[in-house]
Amino acid sequence: MAQIIDGKAIAQRVREEIKEEVDELKRRGITPGLAVVLVGEDPASRIYVRNKKNAAEKTGINSFEHHLPEDTPQDELLRLVRRLNEDDNVHGILVQLPLPAHIDTAVVIEAISPEKDVDGFHPYNVGRLLTGNPIFEPCTPKGIMELLKRSGIEPAGRDAVVVGRSNIVGKPVALMLLAQNATVTVCHSRTRHIERKVSEADILVCAVGRAGFIRGGWIKEGSVVIDVGVNRLEDGSLVGDVEFEEARRRAAHVTPVPGGVGPMTIAMLLSNTVLAAKRRAEG
Ligand code: NAP
Repeated sequence: MAQIIDGKAIAQRVREEIKEEVDELKRRGITPGLAVVLVGEDPASRIYVRNKKNAAEKTGINSFEHHLPEDTPQDELLRLVRRLNEDDNVHGILVQLPLPAHIDTAVVIEAISPEKDVDGFHPYNVGRLLTGNPIFEPCTPKGIMELLKRSGIEPAGRDAVVVGRSNIVGKPVALMLLAQNATVTVCHSRTRHIERKVSEADILVCAVGRAGFIRGGWIKEGSVVIDVGVNRLEDGSLVGDVEFEEARRRAAHVTPVPGGVGPMTIAMLLSNTVLAAKRRAEG
C-alpha cells in the first residue's frame, strides 16, 4: 500500500517556514508585498485570488488586490502592470489567468518585470529555467519538486514520465526533473502507446485534466505517482487524473486529490514572493 504524500501537511510546514523568513525580513524593515491582478468575474479565478490573498496575509506578506472589470482594455491592464513594476512596496506581481479573450496573455506576461514575476511565466524566467539557472520557478512544478524532496524521493537516475505539456505544469516540471538528473519522457495528446510509457515510470507526473485518465493498472509497482489533475465529478466531488485506489495499491508514494499538489502551489507563490523581496534587499 502506497504512502500518501500529504500535501496539506507539507504545505503547512512550508508556510510556517516562510512566515519565519517574513518575520526576519520585517525585522530588517522589509515587508514583502504581493500584487494580485484579477480581470473579470470568473468564479474559479475569484476563489483562487481570494485564497492567494488570504494565504499571503496569514504569512505576514502584504497583499494588494486589483480587481478590474471584464471589459478592461488591454492598454489599461498594461498601465497597471507597469505601475506595479515601479511600486517599491510590491515585490511580486501575479496576473490571474485565464484573461478575457480580448487580452493577449503573452503581452501581459512580458510586461511584468522579470524581477517581480513570482509566477515564473515570463520568457526571461522560462529561459533561466531551461538553461539550468532558474530564479523564479513556476509555482505548481516547484511545489511538486518540493513534495518529492520532503518525501525523501531522489529523482536522479530514475525514469520520470510527465503526461501533459502545458507551459504552467508539464513542460516546466519535465525541465525540473531533468535538472535533477531524472531521465524524462513527456507525453501529450499525440503520444502513442501511452499506457506502455506510463507503466515504465519510476516517477509519474500527470497533468491532463481528465478524471480516471491514468488507469490504476498502468502504474509501475513501487513507483511515485504525482497527480496534478483537478476534475470535478457530477456529484460535486474533486478527483485527479489517476485512478487513486488502484494506484495506491501499486505505487510506493502517491499524492491524493484534493490535498496533494494543490496546497503546495500557493505555498510556492509565497516562497517566490519572499525570494523576490530578498533579492531586492540584496540589490
Ligand atoms: P492544459 O493546459 O489543458 O494541458 C493539458 C495537457 O494534457 C496538454 O499538454 C494535452 O496535450 C494533454 N492531454 C490532453 N488529452 C490527452 C490525452 N488523451 N493523452 C495525453 N495527453 C493529453 O492543462 P494544465 O493547465 O497543464 O492542467 C492540467 C490539470 O492540472 C488540470 O486538471 C488542472 O486543473 C490541473 N492543475 C492543477 C494545479 C494545482 O495547483 N493543483 C495547477 C495547475 C493545473 P496537448 O498539448 O497535445 O494538447
